[in-house]
Amino acid sequence: MLMPLLAAVTISTDFEGGSLGRRQAVSETHWRLGSKGEKDQDGRNRQANWYAFRVDGAKAGQELTFDIVDLPGEYNYRPNRGAITKDTPPVISADGRAWRHLTTVEYDAQEPRLRLKVTAPAARFWIAHVAPYTNENLMRLRGRLAKTPTFQEEKIGKTVDGRDLLLWTLGTGKKTIWLMFRQHSWEAGSSWAGEGALLELANNAELRRRYTWKVFPLCDPDGVARGGVRFNVHGYDLNRNWDTRDAVKMPEITAQRNAVEKWLKSGRSVDLFFSLHNTETAEYLEGPPEGSPFRGLAERFFAELKQTTFHPSRPLFYAAVSTTVGKPGRMNVLQGLYHDYKLPAFLMEQRIAYNEKLARLPGPEDRLKFGGELVRAMARSLQ
Ligand SMILES: [Zn+2]
Repeated sequence: MLMPLLAAVTISTDFEGGSLGRRQAVSETHWRLGSKGEKDQDGRNRQANWYAFRVDGAKAGQELTFDIVDLPGEYNYRPNRGAITKDTPPVISADGRAWRHLTTVEYDAQEPRLRLKVTAPAARFWIAHVAPYTNENLMRLRGRLAKTPTFQEEKIGKTVDGRDLLLWTLGTGKKTIWLMFRQHSWEAGSSWAGEGALLELANNAELRRRYTWKVFPLCDPDGVARGGVRFNVHGYDLNRNWDTRDAVKMPEITAQRNAVEKWLKSGRSVDLFFSLHNTETAEYLEGPPEGSPFRGLAERFFAELKQTTFHPSRPLFYAAVSTTVGKPGRMNVLQGLYHDYKLPAFLMEQRIAYNEKLARLPGPEDRLKFGGELVRAMARSLQ
């Protein structure tokens, strides 16, 4: 029998942030694609919720099926069926820049597996867990910020792979608000909101006059480059380990902690510290550990956030002293900075699933807008 000669559809990840594990063709139009996942330094806490790939050689309008598999993992040492479910449909793009959600997905909890049913929008297209935000995006943002009065960049250290770790400063106010984005490389939504925050600061002279803004714009550039999940090159979770000191195994945390310490030792204050994260379905604000003197600030900040698209799935709460009390290497940034310097530190998680307040799945435009709302809410809560 003669088969019609078809140009093969190919799948690749050879671009910044690209990631897949095993790839198996079921037919010429159907693949099983492993979510690569990453484990920590002890081979524990596997998380497999980042995938990003490009398809070439499709025919526009062609029906293709991609099963995302190898999802189960572990979080804080508890096994799970994986963070990817029916609530987390991916995004698709025909140009690698403009993304929309792909809603034609079927979740099989038994395997578990997320099946993506795609009508090819073009011969070449991209699919990713959420809209990617790469080091290249950050360099474009830096170009836009460079002309802002008071903008300064410091290189505070190098990652394991030798990339620069950046600290940006804007503003001249006596009080300091310190922002931190993208401790975890899969959480691109944190970076989109960070860009929105920085563009607001660039456009808002009053916010720059009233406060000094210190910003870690992208805390894990190695992970973002390789399409990682939540660990640095040596497997260390960059939002744990804030109670350990190892400049070789975790130079990122060392550089960030040293930058904060240097600022405090110069006689300046940190009046609000904030790190932004993403989860699948939960959304919340976590305040400084129980018993801190910052409850009033926490309550004002939480109340001001009502004017934003932040849509919490639980009330404001205060952190424990560690994510795993009694085990070294398990303090997150909020817990570590409170322990060492008694800072009023906060951590926010924002869901990637449907947000009822937005009435849609959040996309880059929503994150950008939220970033602007966020810095204005912070400024009001410190008045
Ligand atoms: Zn995170």
